[in-house]
Formats: sequence, C-alpha cells, structure tokens
Amino acid sequence: MKNIDPTSLHKSNPLDTNAQFLALLDAAVDAMIVIDHLGSIEVFNHAAERMFGYQATEVIGENVRVLMPQPYQDAHDGYLEHFNHTRQARIIGIGREVKAQKRSGEIFPIELSVGEVKKSSHPQFVGIIRDISDRMKVQADLNESRERLAQFTRLSTMGEMAAGIAHEINQPLTAITSYSQACRNFIEQYQPKSDDPSLIKVKATLDKISAQTHRASEVISRLRNFVKKGQVIRTTVNLSSLIRNTLNLAEIDTRILEHGIKLKLSNDPRPMVNIDDIQIQQVLFNLINNAIDSLQGRPSAAIQISTHWVGEKNIQVSVKDFGVGISKEQEASLFLPFFTTKASGMGVGLSISQTIIEAHGGKLTYLKGEPSGSIFTFTLPATGATTLPHIEK
Ligand code: ADP
Repeated sequence: MKNIDPTSLHKSNPLDTNAQFLALLDAAVDAMIVIDHLGSIEVFNHAAERMFGYQATEVIGENVRVLMPQPYQDAHDGYLEHFNHTRQARIIGIGREVKAQKRSGEIFPIELSVGEVKKSSHPQFVGIIRDISDRMKVQADLNESRERLAQFTRLSTMGEMAAGIAHEINQPLTAITSYSQACRNFIEQYQPKSDDPSLIKVKATLDKISAQTHRASEVISRLRNFVKKGQVIRTTVNLSSLIRNTLNLAEIDTRILEHGIKLKLSNDPRPMVNIDDIQIQQVLFNLINNAIDSLQGRPSAAIQISTHWVGEKNIQVSVKDFGVGISKEQEASLFLPFFTTKASGMGVGLSISQTIIEAHGGKLTYLKGEPSGSIFTFTLPATGATTLPHIEK
C-alpha cells in the first residue's frame, strides 16, 4: 500500500491553520485552557468563559491560579516548579477529579486532563476541563438513596425483632394482667367493704399494673405494625389531654417526680389532632426519658412541656430540659438510628420518633437550650377549622 502524506490531502497556509484551531477550540463543549510553564494563561476558549464566568481578555496573561481554590493553587505551583527544575511534567494524563473556582467565588468539581504541547516555541500545557457538578450530584443523590435504603432495612429488621419480641412476651404480659386482676378480685371478694387505706392503695397499684401491662403490649404491636407499614390507627384527640395522660403514665418513673414537669399547654383554641395516639405517646415518652436521662446527677430545674399554635393549622409541642446538653459533634448524628451516648442506650428513640412525626405530616427538631440543656420540638397538623374559637362579629 502506498504511504500518503496527510498534509498533501489538505493544503492550507499557517494563517488558516490557526483560524481552524481557534474555531475548533471555541466549538468544543469542554473548557480548554493553554498555559505556559509559569502558569500564565495564553488561550481561554468560549466554553471556559461560560464555565468560569470570565471573558478571555480578562484572564489571558493572568496566572491560572485564579481559576483554582486552595489547596489546588499551591499544589499547581508545585507541579510547575517541578517541571521547571526537571523538565518532567507530572500531571500529564486524563481524568483527575479536582476543584475549580468561578469568578463568583463558587467552587465546583471538575475533571481535568492535561497535555503538554510538544515542539512549540516555549513550554506550554493544555488543560481540558469538564464540569462534573451534575455527575457529583447524581452520585450524592445515589449515596443518599442507598443510606435511606440501609436505614429502611435496619428499621425493617427492628420490625422483625419487634414481631419476635411481641410473640415472646405477649403471653407473660397477658399473664401479668390476669394475675393482677385476680388479686384485685380476691380483695373485692374477701374484703368488699374494707376502707383500710393500705388495701385501697394495693387496689390502685394493681390497676396501675394492669394499665401498664396493657400499654406495653399495645406499644409493641403498634411498633410492629408501624415499621411493617401496617395499619396505623388514627383518631381525633385533644392534644392537651393526650399530654396529661402520657404524663400520668410516665410518672411511674420516680425520677420524674424528683425533678418535676412543668406544663404550659395552649388550650385556646383546643388543639385537636388526628393521630395514632399510642405512637405520639411513644414520641413523648422518648423525649421525656431523654430529658430525664440528661439531668442525671444534676439538681436542675423542672422539665418543661409546652404547646403553642404555629399559625392556625399546626400545633407545636416542645420538651425542654436543663440537662447536660448536646455537643456540636453529637448534634450531627442525633437522629441516626443506633446513635447513643448511653451505656445502656439503644439509640433508636429519636430516629423512630422522627419517622413517626414525619408519617403524621410534622417535623421533629432539636434546638440548643438557653442557658443550658436541650429543646426537642415537634409539630403536628391540627384538624380542621372547627376547633378554632368562635369569633364574635
Ligand atoms: P438512646 O436514648 O437509647 O441513646 P435516642 O435516639 O433517644 O437513643 O437518643 C440518642 C442520643 O441523643 C442519646 O444517647 C443522647 O446522647 C442524645 N440525646 C437525646 N436527647 C437528649 C437530651 N434531652 N439531652 C442530652 N442528650 C440527648
């Protein structure tokens, strides 16, 4: 086969070649920048102008550092210095992921390929730059979805665990209820008219045992239903009454009595909410328990539980303590499943509470307490305008 001299196919004068080169550069989708061995910009194509927000005339002659944030500026100076000493270019190659900086100061991820211009009058490098912000965002979204899936899997595992636990302990719970009712029946049978104060106390305590046992089995079966996306039972209830009832149940923990709880509930108008009451009680229990735990060994002021309206459609519940508080580092992980700082903690209270509140159309948030402690707040949508007060005209 005959060898063909490629230059013989298309004869052009050097001026045309230069014009074609510039046209090619400007038609390119990627940014292309040519620099000399000192980093001074010599060519800056249209795509580079669009990407970086500079006109070519503004940056030609400037050091390419202006297009980079730290620490890439210093690293780049190092590469050029190395080249000038050794005449060996270290960053030649394709596909390095680094950061660039726009005229506006915005830093964005790029993929950079660098080539050396051979046989030119002086050392020159050409950089081809692709903005990979979109690709990185897709990657970040993918990672987030993976993380959500992992969290869902962990919660499903907990659902399975809850199902197992429910199965194992429902029987003993039923037995406890039956025994306590049997004790009560004995007393009624043998001492029906007794007004002995200790017997009255025993009867009241037996009633509490029954109520708590019933609650325990309800909690487990609702948790299992909830995590397995089973049926959620919603009813319309008065939120202030629900909070008071929850406190009555929670006061079984004597630490609450030691510290005390101050209630400041907004009843004007009465906040009615359509909720799964056991689940919302569970959230309140978690927040109250955490508040009590945070007070350990600290003779602090009472825990404060308050509600107030946010506009006419949402009601906010806050649980405030003056306990040890939460550090900045801990704050970032608070709502992650299995994050705990307690020796015997499970670290699932806040993550389950958050899922419950979000399933109810609300939000659970943390705020640093002033001067100390923590405030956990959740919102719930209130039901309809019928609960609003009658406005006299
Ligand atoms: P657990 O109570 O089992 O640790 P949670 O999910 O309820 O799980 O809480 C996670 C962590 O958040 C706790 O271990 C604690 O470090 C922190 N935390 C939650 N509430 C409070 C609070 N009121 N004060 C201080 N730290 C808290």
